[in-house]
Amino acid sequence: MTTIARSLQLVLDRIHAACIAAGRDPASVRLLAVSKTFGADDVTQAVLAGQRAFGENYIVEGVAKIEALNGWQQAQPGGQREALQWHCIGPVQGNKTRLLAEHFDWVQSVDRLKIAQRLSEQRPPALPSLQICLQVNVDGGANKSGVAPADVPGLAQEVARLPRLVLRGLMAIPEPAIDFAAACALHARTKAIFDQINAAGVLALPMDTLSMGMTADLEAAIHAGSTMVRVGTAIFGGR
Ligand SMILES: *Cc1c(COP(=O)(O)O)cnc(C)c1O
Repeated sequence: MTTIARSLQLVLDRIHAACIAAGRDPASVRLLAVSKTFGADDVTQAVLAGQRAFGENYIVEGVAKIEALNGWQQAQPGGQREALQWHCIGPVQGNKTRLLAEHFDWVQSVDRLKIAQRLSEQRPPALPSLQICLQVNVDGGANKSGVAPADVPGLAQEVARLPRLVLRGLMAIPEPAIDFAAACALHARTKAIFDQINAAGVLALPMDTLSMGMTADLEAAIHAGSTMVRVGTAIFGGR
C-alpha cells in the first residue's frame, strides 16, 4: 500500500468511527479528498486506492489536474475508468466561471447570485447540470467569503430556480474551535440553517448535502450532521 492509500484508509476509519459515535449510518457521510497543491500523481494514488471525489481550491490548477487525470484514466484498463468527481471549494472570481462550468462537476463555494447566474449560462448543454452548494459564513468572519446566515434562504431560492444548476446544499468553513463542544456548536448553526430551509418547503427539491468538517474537525462536523467531509492534510500530508 502507498502512504496515500494508507492515509486514506485511516480517514475512512475516522469517518466510520465518528458516525458510529454519533449514532449515524456510516454510508450517510461521503469523503471529498482535497488535493489542492498536490500533483496529479498524488491524485492518481488516491484513485488507485478507490477514492473518486476530489476538491480543488484554485481553478486553473484544478483544470490542469482534471485534464491530466482524464488522460491517465483513458490509458487504463476498464477498472479505473469509473468517472471522477471534481468539486471546486475555493473562492470564485467572475472571470473564472467559464473554466469552472466547463470542467468541474460541483461548485461548493457559491456565495452570490451573479456567480450562480454565470455558471448557469456557461454550463455546456452536453454536460449534466452543475451541482451547487452555497458557502455560508457561519461565524461571521469579516474577511471571509460566504453568504451571511440571514441571506442564505433568499439566495437558495434564487439559485434553485436557475437552469443547468442543481442546488445540493450548504458548505461552511468555520474558524478552528477551542474544543470538540465548541466545534459541534458552530457546525450545528449551519445544520440549523440547512434544516430550516428544507423544512420551509420553498425549494422544489430539498437539499441533501451538508459539506462541513476538515482534517481537524471532521468528528465534530459529523456529530452535527455533516454529509460530506473535505479532507486534505490527513490524506495527502501537510501543505
Ligand atoms: C484546504 C481545504 C480543506 C481541507 O483542509 P485540511 O485541513 O487539509 O483537511 C477543506 N475545505 C476547504 C474549503 C479547504 O480550502
